[in-house]
Amino acid sequence: MWEYCRLNGAPDQCRWLMGQDMICGFVLNGCQSDIDANRHLVDAHGSEEQTVVCQWEGCKRTLKKGSLRDHYSSVHCKLGNRCKGCGMKGSRRKAHPCVPKGDA
Ligand SMILES: [Zn+2]
Ligand SMILES: [Zn+2]
Ligand SMILES: [Zn+2]
Repeated sequence: MWEYCRLNGAPDQCRWLMGQDMICGFVLNGCQSDIDANRHLVDAHGSEEQTVVCQWEGCKRTLKKGSLRDHYSSVHCKLGNRCKGCGMKGSRRKAHPCVPKGDA
């Protein structure tokens, strides 16, 4: 069984650049899952374009709209999953000994 968790080094705030020297500052402490983070991403930083440039401080990667969500929540917000059995953390839910096959 898996549960959402914040991985090591997860930032307290959204560091999406809003202007010259201004970052978004949205408090990410309350975000435990990529769903929470993506809700903020879409609400606050959503775009109509199909290709978007990630404005996270120091990033500037160009991504397809769909991959930006994954990128944002896992790379920047560092939200991932934790195995309830052994405590293993990762950005993906992967098969390992305490997760029965098919339940990964
Ligand atoms: Zn933000
Ligand atoms: Zn980025
Ligand atoms: Zn495990």
